[in-house]
Amino acid sequence: MTALVIVGHGTRSAEGVAQFAALVERVRTRAGGTVGDVEGGFIELSRPPLTDAVGALVGRGHRALVALPLVLTAAGHGKGDIPAALAREVQRHPGLSYAYGRPLGPHPRLQTALAERIDVALAGADRAGTWVALIGRGSTDPDANAEVAKVARLLWEGRGYAGVEPGFISLAEPSVPAVLDRLRRLGARRIVVAPYFLFAGVLPDRIRAQAREFAAAHPELDLRVADLIGDCDALADLVLERHAEAVRGDIRMNCDTCAYRVSMPGFVDKVGRPQTPHDHPDDPVGGHSHQHEHQHQHEQRHQHPEPALRPGAVAIVGGGPGPADLITVRGRALLEAADVVVVDRLAPQGLLAGLRPGVRVVDAAKSPRGPSVGQDAINSALVRHARAGRRVVRLKGGDPYVFGRGHEEVLACAAAGVPVTVVPGVTSAVAAAALAGVPVTHRGTAHEFTVVSGHLPPGHPDSLVDWAALGRARGTLVVLMGVETIGAVAVELIAHGRSPDTPVLAVQDAGHPEQRSLPTRLDEVAAAVARAGVGPPAVFVVGPVAAFAAEPVLAAAGH
Ligand code: SAH
Repeated sequence: MTALVIVGHGTRSAEGVAQFAALVERVRTRAGGTVGDVEGGFIELSRPPLTDAVGALVGRGHRALVALPLVLTAAGHGKGDIPAALAREVQRHPGLSYAYGRPLGPHPRLQTALAERIDVALAGADRAGTWVALIGRGSTDPDANAEVAKVARLLWEGRGYAGVEPGFISLAEPSVPAVLDRLRRLGARRIVVAPYFLFAGVLPDRIRAQAREFAAAHPELDLRVADLIGDCDALADLVLERHAEAVRGDIRMNCDTCAYRVSMPGFVDKVGRPQTPHDHPDDPVGGHSHQHEHQHQHEQRHQHPEPALRPGAVAIVGGGPGPADLITVRGRALLEAADVVVVDRLAPQGLLAGLRPGVRVVDAAKSPRGPSVGQDAINSALVRHARAGRRVVRLKGGDPYVFGRGHEEVLACAAAGVPVTVVPGVTSAVAAAALAGVPVTHRGTAHEFTVVSGHLPPGHPDSLVDWAALGRARGTLVVLMGVETIGAVAVELIAHGRSPDTPVLAVQDAGHPEQRSLPTRLDEVAAAVARAGVGPPAVFVVGPVAAFAAEPVLAAAGH
């Protein structure tokens, strides 16, 4: 039979980890001969990690697994984080495949287990005089919250409680105090708070604490808290049932009411978008900030790459040299996730047309001018939008770290405590030449290339460039921001040893429909640029490779 790997999220609670381990052992025992092999592992926070569990099964010769997410409802962990962790295992073990099991609930066994825990808390008190507050974890995914509401209803049906109301410990309403207050106003005298949770953890502890606090403020109420579902035979048997379903290929995730597929009021921005990781109070600090690829797993196994851009975080994204399709896949995904895009003049403007409606575009070129004023304004805009809980993309031309002041923005975010990530881009320093048909290196011709800023001319007191050394060198020199200074640069290079007839190619507006390139030589470049009216943005490629330019003078780019 297909081996089973039980996948937990992980918790900071040692008791929760022990309960998970005990359940895995119980599943093994109760499986008897029906399941070949059983392992359990966590995707974060706790040991053993999923990768060890999968590694053990692979080591014992298994190549096809059932992976069962040990979650009560299909929310972020079940739809995104766990499939992403499994996808990494599949990459790690070529030939490995897995069938993904359904979330555990809703299920009659779980309702029965909840009713048993409530009975223990009631200790003989009558059900008819008892209201139940069923408290779920809470999610930004309305479908997951609706599942808890459904379980509340199913728990009430036929069991004789006065009523069962759902509530949530995080991310969703009503909160624990809110649902308890609602029951109190409905006239409840006795309330059992039933956590809809498998195992011990920070959130169940918080449910108990909030219930105690409410009880202390309302001494007239008889308020009790039921135990968690915990490691028990009913849960182990449900795990085995989910395993059997997966083996049969009988998995139906509820996608009819999934906010990622169906437009729902208040959630329209989710339709068609990847599942987004969220901050849960018991997740580790910055828990999902690492660049995991998350996937939202539907019954048809649609997989979307998931950008790791959380609300309140900034991504400094290199947009490439100009054409909308020369951004990286990662940069594009982050852009699609953005709520605010702070964009440079040189960043690919075509990408803005593809943004979701309602995304705020901030034109950084409109920031006040001056050597640092503009940058300060940009930095503070990034921090301000992030602190307002928005997903912020700073879209830059080329690569953010090539004369892009990207690191200043990273430092500003870091200093403000705003999570920040950098996505490299295709730099014009290499791409402009390439788009004009010139390789910056070529075997037997150039074994080095140097990228230099022409912003400050040779001899400028603030210049950090050793122009003399560049004059002596033989390799390719790529000059950015040099339209104004290329004449002075050429004189200096010739003075230090470059031959006056060294080929030079000026490439203007690389990648744009107006791209043009001008082949010339070092001692003529200034005059040629002036004659042809070359203007920024342009790069100058200096060195023997520049002679490879196949295009005639000022030919329009043939795209
Ligand atoms: N971070 C950018 C460079 C910023 S400095 C990158 O990695 O590409 C700005 C300079 O880049 C311009 O003065 C010009 O020299 C060059 N540049 C940027 N985009 C260009 C383009 N499409 N065509 C030619 N040069 C370009």
